[in-house]
Formats: sequence, C-alpha cells, structure tokens
Amino acid sequence: MIHHRSLHPNDAELANWSGSLVFRPRYVGVPRDEEEACSIVRLAARDGLKVRPVGRRHSSSPIIATDDVAVSMENMSGLIEHDTEEGWALVGAGTSLDDMGRALNAVGLATHNLGDINVQSVVGAVSTCTHGSGRTLTNLATMLIGGRMVTADGEVREIGSDIIHAARGSLGTLGLFTALKLRLLPRYRLRRREWCTTLSECFERLEELSHGSRNFDMYWYPRSDRVKLRTLDPPGEGPEGIEGAKLVLEMEGWSNEVLSRKRVLRFDEMEYAVPADVGEECFLEVRKRIMQRHRRTVGWRVLYRYVAADDAYLSTAHGRDTVTISLHQNNTLPYDEYFNDIEEVFLRYGGRPHWGKKHGLEAEDLEPLYPRWSEFQRVRRELDPEGVFLTDHMGRLLEGC
Ligand SMILES: Cc1cc2nc3c(=O)[nH]c(=O)nc-3n(C[C@H](O)[C@H](O)[C@H](O)COP(=O)(O)OP(=O)(O)OC[C@H]3O[C@@H](n4cnc5c(N)ncnc54)[C@H](O)[C@@H]3O)c2cc1C
Repeated sequence: MIHHRSLHPNDAELANWSGSLVFRPRYVGVPRDEEEACSIVRLAARDGLKVRPVGRRHSSSPIIATDDVAVSMENMSGLIEHDTEEGWALVGAGTSLDDMGRALNAVGLATHNLGDINVQSVVGAVSTCTHGSGRTLTNLATMLIGGRMVTADGEVREIGSDIIHAARGSLGTLGLFTALKLRLLPRYRLRRREWCTTLSECFERLEELSHGSRNFDMYWYPRSDRVKLRTLDPPGEGPEGIEGAKLVLEMEGWSNEVLSRKRVLRFDEMEYAVPADVGEECFLEVRKRIMQRHRRTVGWRVLYRYVAADDAYLSTAHGRDTVTISLHQNNTLPYDEYFNDIEEVFLRYGGRPHWGKKHGLEAEDLEPLYPRWSEFQRVRRELDPEGVFLTDHMGRLLEGC
C-alpha cells in the first residue's frame, strides 16, 4: 500500500461522461502542487504501477482508463502568469476551459477557438487535439508553447521547443503536465448565428459558406434529412443572409461566451478527420450508408467541421487541412454496429480517429496515418523508458504491444 496524503486508495468505479467507459483505479491522486505530483509519480514507479493522468473524463476512448493510479490536476488550476501584450498565459493544467476563458477575458486575452463544449480541462483538450470549426483555425493543442510537467523519473521538466511537437496531443504519455503556457489572441467578440436549411441548399454552397465565416460548421439530422448551420463572425462581418436558410438564433458576446454550448443529453461519439478536399465526398457516402442501413436506429445528428493543418506529431490535422465528421448516438442506445460500419468508410478516405472518441484502431493501423509517428515514439521512450505512463491500452495504441 502506498501512503501519501494526496494519493487515496480507491475502490469506486470511475466512468467517463457518457458512462460507456468504466474503470477502477487502485489509487486516485489529486496533487496540490508539483512536489506532491513528483512524489506520486515516484511512488507509483517504485511499485511498478502505471500512472494515467485524467482530466474531466470527457474522453470515451480508454486513454483515461487504468487499474493502477489515476492522477487529476483539478487542484492545480487557475491563471498563473500572463502577458497581454505578448499574447500568452501560463495556466494550471487542471483549469477548465470555461474558467480559463473567463480568467483570460478579464486580462484581455482569449483562445483562438473552442470546441462544442467548454467544461473539459485545458490539459485534456491539449492532450487530445480537441478542436472547434473554422477553415483557418487549428486545433487547441497548437496553443501550447511551453509549460511544465512531471516526467517518469519524478522530476519536473520544462516543455521546450525540442519536445513541443510531441507534447501537443501527447495523450498523457510524456508525463504529467502541471502548467501549460499557451499562445493566445487579444480578446474578441463574435456574433453567433444558427440557420436551418436542407442538405442540398447547403452542399451547393459549402465552399463559399465555409470560407465566408470565421467559424462554420454543419449538423445533419438523419431522420429529417435537414441541416443546421452555425456561423460565428466578428460583429458586422460574415454573410448578410444565407439563401434558402432560415435564421433561428442570433447572439453576440465575447468568444468564450458564445463559441461553446452546454450539452445536457449524453451521447457516445465516433469522429474521424479526413483530408478537407475529400470531406464532402466522404460525408455523402456516410450519409448514404446511414440512410440505407442505420436510419431506423439512429436519430441523432452528424456533425461536419473544419480544422486547419498543423505540425504536431499526433495531431489529427497533421500536415493537412481537415474536415471532421462525427457520429453521435444517444448513450442509452447501442452504438457498436453503427460506428463500426461507418468507420470502414472513414478509413477508406484516409481518416484519422479523434483520440478521445470511440474507434477501433491500434498502433499498426495508426502508424501509416501519421508521417511523424516514429518521432513521437522516440520522444516518448526517451522521457518514459520504463513505460510508467503506458497502460496496456496505451501500449496497444502507441507501441502495438
Ligand atoms: C459532450 C462532449 C463534447 C465534446 N466536444 C468536442 C469538440 O467539440 N471537439 C473535440 O475535438 N472534442 C470534443 N470532445 C472530446 C473532448 O474534448 C476530449 O475528449 C478531451 O480530451 C476531454 O478533456 P478532459 O478534460 O475530459 O480530459 P480527459 O478525457 O480526462 O483526458 C484526455 C487526455 O488528457 C490526458 N491528460 C489529462 N490530464 C493530464 C495531465 N495533467 N498531464 C498529461 N496528460 C493529461 C489524459 O491522459 C488523456 O489522454 C467532446 C467530448 C464530449 C463528451
């Protein structure tokens, strides 16, 4: 039995947000400072236990699951340091995106984008390449420009330029991040509008629409075959109207207030990132298959979004402008058959699965999808040669064993 005041023996089940992933770690660590985080990692390593960092458990793939030690940074949150002129901030790794958005706004700063919700931890979002939508907007991991982490030897290390491309989207396998230094924008306001239309009206003008707004995405509803468009633009900019579409919502606010929404109904999700130039074709094939085979059992929407290319080794948008297509299924309904069937289509289009959502790939399938795969593994092995942060699942995902 390990004894440490911030490491608690545990016999309760932990679940992810949707409830589809359940695990029971032997210990749960909630360090209050870096010294405690170092001791937890050292003690676990000494006893041959695996350490799995966890955020707000909004991932539904087993990247958060462990039988050994789950460590949360929830006690290490808040704005630590910032420079509004230079456009950066250092934040505690456990800070929620929501709290961070408010704290940044108060000092005149903002993230360049947000995803559909903002209750995740910033470290969870950065570690899985969480993204919003916008032709020119990269995922949230690209905000990371430095910070600190506790590595497998129980020492604190600065996140320097030598490992930054591995650190963005590192799935908790390089170490336990304690603080993240983020590149930010001066705070800005947005007008959010939502429009209802038909798929054909929307698809005829998808290029123009997606380039015409700062943030643009589309929900398709299989049951009605209708779509909802969401556009966000600086006030006074963006399209005047959209032909054939009805404006159903309009609001204006600071970016951190209007980019994300609250999600009450729980769902499971599969999302693949495909090259932007085959996005429409892939979506139409997905739609056809849903209409032919799954429409009776699938009532929920399919989400179509854009992410700009970046150079993080394991970014789902690595080296290519990207379209992401997400399948949602109510969390009380079976999803396996539906997701597995559509996954085959995504893979034919060179799709890369969202790291935090459902998918069926392992290292041998993933490696060919990521040109810098081996560089990531090199950095990971250098920082964690004994695999302290490599649970069995992470081993199969990254090492193929
Ligand atoms: C309702 C809902 C909406 C969503 N919307 C979007 C969206 O719009 N866009 C999108 O791209 N994704 C979306 N997601 C996915 C979600 O953003 C990711 O799964 C994200 O990682 C969740 O953050 P979290 O704080 O819950 O982290 P967790 O899921 O708990 O952890 C995620 C990863 O972060 C690592 N990690 C956690 N803490 C640390 C630490 N201290 N050091 C190192 N690594 C750490 C974990 O090991 C794990 O690999 C959504 C998920 C849900 C449930």
